[in-house]
Order: sequence, then structure tokens, then C-alpha cells
Amino acid sequence: MERFKKALKDVFVWDGRDCMYIKNEKERVRARCAEEKCPWLIYVARNSKTMAFEIKTFHNKHTYGRDYGSNLADRAWVTDKLEKRLATQPKLTPREATEHMKQDYNVQVHPKMIQMALKAAREIVVGNDKAQYGKLWDYLQELHRSNWCMKFAITLYACRNGFVKGCRPLIGLDGCFLKGYYGGQLLTAMSLDANNHVFVIAYAVTRAENTENWMWFLTRFQDDLGDHQVHGWNLMSDQQKLTEMPYVHAVAAISKLRIKVTEDFVSPYLTIDAVRKTYDLCVNPVNSKEFWEKTDHPKPQPPRIVRPAGRPKKHRTESGAPLPLQ
Ligand SMILES: [Zn+2]
Repeated sequence: MERFKKALKDVFVWDGRDCMYIKNEKERVRARCAEEKCPWLIYVARNSKTMAFEIKTFHNKHTYGRDYGSNLADRAWVTDKLEKRLATQPKLTPREATEHMKQDYNVQVHPKMIQMALKAAREIVVGNDKAQYGKLWDYLQELHRSNWCMKFAITLYACRNGFVKGCRPLIGLDGCFLKGYYGGQLLTAMSLDANNHVFVIAYAVTRAENTENWMWFLTRFQDDLGDHQVHGWNLMSDQQKLTEMPYVHAVAAISKLRIKVTEDFVSPYLTIDAVRKTYDLCVNPVNSKEFWEKTDHPKPQPPRIVRPAGRPKKHRTESGAPLPLQ
């Protein structure tokens, strides 16, 4: 019901109108357009048989034109929308926020409101991100409980087992930026299963992608999986381009020669047996965070944010002229 009411509000904001509740209860809601003589009406209640919520009545016609600027687009509402946006665009500027509200919600928000809502949304997001770091030990404990996690550069036992037993001896290494207020880098080690699908073996979160952090990650990786020289694993970084191997064409050519496609032509890493071994163990689901056992470790702090030295870059328009500072 709460989700319905949120959606209703979004629609009214989009239409630039206000809505009003005639009945507002847990199990049933009747809402109408705030315009006095307007017949727009919706009634939602629980179906006693299916127990699902149903729209019972819906007159979707307004008699009056829209009057831009719905009163429903209050600060809490704008903050909620901006909070979601900040998750993917942590450096959202007031200008971009205004544009986002116009584009996605069809509403022109007052600059003052944008400023306050953006500040509030940012505090919430930063607070949430910080809280996430604080839960790290509890999360690890939960992973240990459910999956037997091996290290904080996280290697789940099922993933390690699947790689060692079923994947070809190829390990791809890659790093990418983490979005979000505190940034950081996600380092990953992965392989390919018999279907050429990506198979994640291990991952770690570090502040930056540099030789030192890669050394740290790979040393831990080697501790968990064994020495790469002993096992004959090949490492590949994203700098090296992998050419697609023409398996399909090769098999077609072999068939043309009327030779049976036997095991002689197929690597054991590309067989059903390899797939079975790769996915022999599964990654167990973890409990929702309210069920995590609390650990007594001190809460990890998020990394200190390092801003690049020097003056911040000016945003420029297409013509090259700097935009005014916001
Ligand atoms: Zn109306």
C-alpha cells in the first residue's frame, strides 16, 4: 500500500496536480483530485479471497487543465528522489538535480528546495555508506557462517572449488571504480566456465588500483588457491586482448571432413563434466542484515577521501566557455 501511495504521488507530481485522500487506511485507500469539481478518483483495497491489493474503482479523467507546480513535490519527496539518483551519480550538482527532476518527474523545483533536498539526500547517502563500512565485520561473520569465506579479499569456498575443479587454467584480472561517496576500487579475479561464461573466483575492495594493492590481492589469492606455477595457471590482465577462439568454426570444419567430433578435438575444459565440476558447490544465500550476529570488532571506518591536488576542474559548455560556479 505504501508503494501504491508513493506511485500515486509520483503521478500527481508528474501531472502538476494535487491529490487528496478521502480514506487512508492500512487496507484501503480512496484518493481523489484536489480540484473541487474534478471527478478523478481511485479506490484500492485488499481482495478478501486472493489477499492481494486491487484497484476497485478508477476514473482517470481530470476536468481542469494542469497548473504547473504540484504542492506534493515537497522537500521530503524531492530528497527521496535525489537520494536514489546519488547512488549512481554521487557528484550530482544542483543544476543536474534540477534537470533530473524536470526530465524524470516533469516538475520544476525551486533552486532553494533543490539545494536543501540535495544536502539532505547527500547526508543520508553518506551516512548509509558509512554504516555499510561499519557492518563489514558482521558481514564477514555472516559469510563465514553461510559460506565459509576464506579472506577479506573474498574468496568463497564454492567459487574456489569450482575454479580449481572445473575451469580452464586461465585467470583474468580486472579492476573497476566503485561508484558511491567513498569511491574505491573493486579488484576481481575470474575465469571462464565451459560455456565461456564469466566465473568469478575472488574479489577485493581497495582504495586505489596500483601495484601494491594488486600484489596484496594476488598474494592472498595465491595463499588460497596455491602457487600459479605449480598449477600451471595463466594470468591475463585487461591490458591483454583476448582473441575469440573459433570453436564453432573448428567444429564445423571437423564435421565437414566427416571425422567424428570425438574427445580428441575437445578440451576437457569444455565438457559437460567440467560444467558439473565448476558448479558442484553453490554460493549459499546470506541472511538479511537484521539477522547478522553482532561481532565485537571495532567498526571499520570508510577510507579518507582523497581529492586530487590543485584547483577543481571547471565544467565547460560545448563552446568551451566555463559555466558559472554553482
Ligand atoms: Zn483533477
